[in-house]
Amino acid sequence: MKIVLLGAPGCGKGTHAQRLTTELGIPHVSTGDIFRQNLKEQTELGKQIAGILAKGDLVSDEITVAIVRDRLSRDDCKNGYILDGFPRSLVQAEALESFDKLDVVVNIDVDYDTIIKRISGRRFCPKCSGTFHVSHLTSDTCPVCGDTLIIRSDDREEAVRNRLEVYESTTKPLIDFYRQRGLLKTAKGDGTVEENYANILKVLK
Ligand code: AMP
Repeated sequence: MKIVLLGAPGCGKGTHAQRLTTELGIPHVSTGDIFRQNLKEQTELGKQIAGILAKGDLVSDEITVAIVRDRLSRDDCKNGYILDGFPRSLVQAEALESFDKLDVVVNIDVDYDTIIKRISGRRFCPKCSGTFHVSHLTSDTCPVCGDTLIIRSDDREEAVRNRLEVYESTTKPLIDFYRQRGLLKTAKGDGTVEENYANILKVLK
């Protein structure tokens, strides 16, 4: 099954994609994770995009599409994948349509107040890429691998405001794009993680 998870930053795409990947046995392809890995390894791409990510702006469509196209052409994506964070613009959606055929696009619907509360309490593990909320933590140590948790630079207030603006202007139009193609399903995402995940499974059935 070829699935896109759509939704504003902080809607839970990454969390649910990680569970879906285990449940469905197909890879989780997150452009945000790919970019962060490049930052961490200080690759040429990493150096080029560091400032863009810190501000919460989008990496160019050209770079992003080339990376995703290459990733989806690998063997492990033959039977499907869960795309998280891509596409994020009409140009990216049209490019994806030109080289692959999706089965379903799930829009995770969450109001902005909830998103801001979630992102401001979010902590990230640079070692295992886990994301946690302060309300579930007792220290700044990753409960999975023990590394020290950090606040992602793009989770800082100024960047979050910018990411929500970019979402409104550039990514939100994809809801209509996929609705017109009969691919869109909507799952409410403002309950608990369990409830939200159950909503996603329901629309995938
Ligand atoms: P995410 O973890 O999906 O929120 O992505 C983190 C950051 O990576 C975003 O704020 C963008 O700077 C960049 N990014 C991720 N996916 C894309 C994309 N599809 N197009 C452009 N930039 C992206």
